[in-house]
Amino acid sequence: MLTGKVALVTGAARGIGKAIALKLASQGAVVIVNYAGSKEKAEAVVAQIREASGEAVAMQCDVSDYSACEALSKAVLEQFGRLDILVNNAGITRDGLLMRMSEADYDAVLDTNLKGAFNMIRHFSRSFLKQRSGRIINISSVSGVMGNAGQANYSASKAGLIGLTKSVARELAGRGVCVNAVAPGFIATDMTEAMAESAKEGLEKLIPFGHMGKPEDVAEAVAFLAGDASAYITGQVICVDGGMAI
Ligand code: NAP
Repeated sequence: MLTGKVALVTGAARGIGKAIALKLASQGAVVIVNYAGSKEKAEAVVAQIREASGEAVAMQCDVSDYSACEALSKAVLEQFGRLDILVNNAGITRDGLLMRMSEADYDAVLDTNLKGAFNMIRHFSRSFLKQRSGRIINISSVSGVMGNAGQANYSASKAGLIGLTKSVARELAGRGVCVNAVAPGFIATDMTEAMAESAKEGLEKLIPFGHMGKPEDVAEAVAFLAGDASAYITGQVICVDGGMAI
């Protein structure tokens, strides 16, 4: 159980982030539901948590904006006095073959997916160090583990998150902070809904289990890494992918 813990989940208004927020709240954590543009959806997640007798607030922040992340960290620490669990889930895709990929599409994906996680970790690291405890969980992807044609920017950002995870894990281990990554495979959300049917069918053939995963499958792994049962695990990547990256 996560009773008494304060958790921040970035990009938690929908998809995998929403499932993570609901799961952590169901285990007793107070959850900060971060969103970039989906204000109403974030408020609906907060309402759902409160209806189940949980505690949650919605807070807006574009994770790619360094100063905005600093402001968010100050607001969280002022309101709650601490942060125990940081889940860097916010992410975007701007797919395309390398030969046609624009600089803007490369930068946007790196800025949100990789720099966004750095921004949040950077601004909360002092409070994690002072507390001498905490969990940082970065949502990577099998694309970061295996690479994926048409996703050079996305795969680079997600592989970068694994390097960030391992380095920060080494830096914070002495202060009792565990830093791990979860690498989802092909999960049914708005992100994958946007793909062409033929691309989806092709991807499903690469999954040993033969079907897509659910956001809740990812949330279970995150809850494990957020809880006491994973206290001796740091710097690791758990693939939640139906065997895709075997
Ligand atoms: P999604 O349904 O498209 O949701 C993306 C979330 O990220 C939204 O809540 C969005 O917030 C948020 N976000 C985007 N840019 C942001 C920014 N600059 N600042 C703050 N929040 C931002 O995607 P998903 O499938 O749930 O993916 C969640 C994470 O899992 C991503 O990191 C993704 O790369 C990773 N992942 C997904 C899959 C998959 O198959 N679905 C596989 C591997 C990894 P707003 O709605 O407020 O804009």
